[in-house]
Amino acid sequence: MTQHSEPIIGIDLGTTNSVVAAYVNGKVQVLSDGSDGILPSVVGVTTDDKLIVGRTARNQLIAFPERTVASVKRQMGTTKILTMAGQDYTPQEISALILKQLRQRAEKALGCEVTRAVITVPAFFDENQRQATREAGTLAGLTVERIINEPTAASLVYHAGQDDRRHLIVYDLGGGTFDVSIVRIEGGVIEVLSSMGDTQLGGDDFDQLLTSHVAKEFRDRHGIDPMEHPVTRWRLLQACERAKCELSFSTHARITEEFIATVDGMPVNLDIEIDRNEYEDLIRPLVDRTIQCVDQAIQESRLNLQQLDELILVGGSTRTPLVQERLRTEFHREPHWSVNPDFAVALGAATQAAIHQGHPVGPVLIDVATHTVGIETLDVSSYSMKMLYSPLIRRNTPLPAKHEQAFSTITPDQEEVHINVFQGESDELSRNRKIGEFRLEGLNQTDDADGEIDVCFELTLDGVLRVSAKEHKSGIATSIVIANSMSDARQSTHELTDARLRDLFATSDSESDSGESLPLDHPDSHQPLPAIELHGPHTSPPEPVVSDAGRELKSWQRLTAKAITVANGLDTDDAQDIRRLVQLIESADRDNDEELVRDLEEELDDLLFYVTG
Ligand code: AMP
Repeated sequence: MTQHSEPIIGIDLGTTNSVVAAYVNGKVQVLSDGSDGILPSVVGVTTDDKLIVGRTARNQLIAFPERTVASVKRQMGTTKILTMAGQDYTPQEISALILKQLRQRAEKALGCEVTRAVITVPAFFDENQRQATREAGTLAGLTVERIINEPTAASLVYHAGQDDRRHLIVYDLGGGTFDVSIVRIEGGVIEVLSSMGDTQLGGDDFDQLLTSHVAKEFRDRHGIDPMEHPVTRWRLLQACERAKCELSFSTHARITEEFIATVDGMPVNLDIEIDRNEYEDLIRPLVDRTIQCVDQAIQESRLNLQQLDELILVGGSTRTPLVQERLRTEFHREPHWSVNPDFAVALGAATQAAIHQGHPVGPVLIDVATHTVGIETLDVSSYSMKMLYSPLIRRNTPLPAKHEQAFSTITPDQEEVHINVFQGESDELSRNRKIGEFRLEGLNQTDDADGEIDVCFELTLDGVLRVSAKEHKSGIATSIVIANSMSDARQSTHELTDARLRDLFATSDSESDSGESLPLDHPDSHQPLPAIELHGPHTSPPEPVVSDAGRELKSWQRLTAKAITVANGLDTDDAQDIRRLVQLIESADRDNDEELVRDLEEELDDLLFYVTG
């Protein structure tokens, strides 16, 4: 740990939304640009060739889908090329533009240059996806000090500095990914016991299912397919996402879009009503998949259900009532959040950044490997000469992990070995994923070489894998870089990419996303930002609510903070009613509907009065 004056920012680089936070005056807080602190993870180029990132880009998604890229996180670590306004980009280039925007936001808020960051990734991201995230950071001009897993980051903000042992299930369902971790908190140490997840499952999939359902209804009624035209498809998708969010609070939602298509030259409106049961039937298989993951994570943690104290919700999609209901019935725990699920991960990343910087503020974090990694070997014991999977580091091994194992060459005079690195949990090699390969050449140069090769796997705290191989007797060794095809391509285009992004970013109107940005200490900067106080491992527990950042809280925030504390102590249906009202207030505030906020506040106040007597 080193002490630095330049802040290290914490970034939640999400599929749908991204958030940046930092440690300021003893607290970690979300850095805002004058709005709500959320930057939609959408990048676009306007018709006059200006780069736009965030809300403005999301707004142009409908009109110019071919000029806009969303949900890039799902492509990280793949070789997929994304086309935006006729130009090709890699997923890490698009992510870099989002990171640059967040960096700029942080620099304005903090009033100094920012070059270092802790970035979060889904626990279930593999090495390629982590490496791509790291590269995106580098392209954005950031030194990525550490990559941490999202549920681990979230549990950092729940550590509460308590000495008594607690076990948490951290259930994180965002826009594009799902993760669950079983975490032990004890004596100021956070230990991740197991992690499971699915990097291709999230709220985006709920949107897709609802969109297909509504498109079919529309086709049946009007005889035309609204999915055929890209603009119509996007409009439908956006309308369905809105309806999905509404269904979290009400039992019905109406999906309406004017002039969505023309039939026989006449404009046709979309006007379809959907009820919550219908929607829940659509998404139930996906929610069930997450429940299976939680089951597996519990099993792998070697704890039983009775030993699990809390079920914490992270990520925007955990507002879905079916998700909460399934968790409640399956695990007999009341799922809850005391830190806004949209911000917990970024606040956790900033907490880790503060710890990394030497601030004596947080718990010690012990994370685990989320995948088993190993090499391909040949089974010479059978006549079939079958290829085998030989794991070197097993899933759920505490990080950093290092394991060395000796293997022999197939023939004594062999001049080279080809090492194929695999990742996965199956005993069968073919069912795992190849993540890299390299050769160890020039073997057998010494007379007494015995064909023994030492293979060493090192998995860093960031989950980045380094593999090396050495001929035992001669000491001939290979470089530790895994030379897979993707990293080759990345190396050669790196400098080119850097310049290209700088040029593109220079075209952006930095204030275009969401208004004027004010430094944190600016007298007019009254936006109440989500913040938590940091405590050392053995201090008394902080209030489990979002506290203020030394500035004024909105009146409803005090009320909802109190309401959540009350709800957490209740075992009745009232708890659910309280949480629903809190969500409605948050949503009305996001829509700037002051009147509705006031009405709901009154309703919540009455309910609290009734519940607490
Ligand atoms: P995150 O990646 O954590 O920012 O979560 C974004 C996802 O949460 C998106 O798929 C949103 O549509 C979804 N989301 C946000 N608010 C709600 C809500 N009230 N009900 C259901 N899903 C929501």
